[in-house]
Amino acid sequence: MKSSVRVGTAAGIGIFLHWTFLLLIVGLFVFYLLRGENLAAALVGVGVVGAVFLCVVLHELGHALAARRYNVPTRDITLYPIGGVARLQRIPEEPMKEFWIAVAGPAVNLVIAILLLLVILATGASFAPSSILDPGTHLLATLMWLNVVLVGFNLLPAFPMDGGRVLRALLATRTDYARATEIAANVGQGMAILFGLVGLVFFNPFLLFIALFVYVGAQQEARQAMLRAVTQGVPVRQAMMTRFTRLAPEDTVADAVEALLAGSDQDFPVVEGEAVVGVLTRKQLMKALSEHGRTVRVGDVLEGGCFTVEDGALLEEAFARMVEASCSTVPVMRGGRLVGLLTLENLGELLMINSALRKAPAPHDSASMPPS
Ligand SMILES: [Zn+2]
Repeated sequence: MKSSVRVGTAAGIGIFLHWTFLLLIVGLFVFYLLRGENLAAALVGVGVVGAVFLCVVLHELGHALAARRYNVPTRDITLYPIGGVARLQRIPEEPMKEFWIAVAGPAVNLVIAILLLLVILATGASFAPSSILDPGTHLLATLMWLNVVLVGFNLLPAFPMDGGRVLRALLATRTDYARATEIAANVGQGMAILFGLVGLVFFNPFLLFIALFVYVGAQQEARQAMLRAVTQGVPVRQAMMTRFTRLAPEDTVADAVEALLAGSDQDFPVVEGEAVVGVLTRKQLMKALSEHGRTVRVGDVLEGGCFTVEDGALLEEAFARMVEASCSTVPVMRGGRLVGLLTLENLGELLMINSALRKAPAPHDSASMPPS
């Protein structure tokens, strides 16, 4: 994660700032200085934004801690100018668990807003928020209203907003997961179009941006759900590649280059006897070529790190592990012998085939037929 800076750790989860977020802070600081504010006022202005994003971090921690209750670890939390992202290692199978993880984020902002409301009532402070041109005058009220906005905005029933997940989870308790996602994604895209139209009519670039964000998010979510539906209960052997080139540790990098140019394979399993000693990826190959030349042995430049799977293992689990470990290719074994390769590209093809089959006309009226 070179594009982000680690700023701290909360509950064992790394908190990162994306460089675009740092740009926003610097830009805002310069904006206040250019307007003729003194240094103190500019710092207050930046401080208000910092406080808002602290609330966003707490929101993301809400998701992360709810996920932890269901044994789903969070890889990291990253702040972007448009908000935060808690990267969960996976989305739980049970819809109600996803429901609670999704609502935990906005619930944190609701609690913050209520606490600020109590402080405002107790101190007799103003309820009117301060404007961006006059930062920090009504700090408590500003933060309270922004938290209210965060609750409302995140609960919009549109992916990738939390409300989209809530909607999907509720639908998934009544229908299957893929269908629930399809409906939720359609609702999200409908809302995106609505945002886009309103954004055009009132010429609001922010709304147009949100519209695009939601539209793309809905598509991605639908794709992920389809992948899950396609891979569920399917063994690895059904999606593995069975024609591939193997290398031996004593082969040279030149041999590997030849194999790369001869076919469409990009990653090569390196096999000694029957045992797989590793996978030489195209990236590793290029690195070895530039650092050591053509004559170095493949066995000497192999970097470990990836795992092997059994051909009877579940595709779904193998895929999740591949994504988690950033492995694009894993060897598939049967009884200690290499029988195939599982690549992310294969999985992409599997998805395309499935998508084409779904669109193909049914041989009979399938409405009365049981699903196969
Ligand atoms: Zn959230």
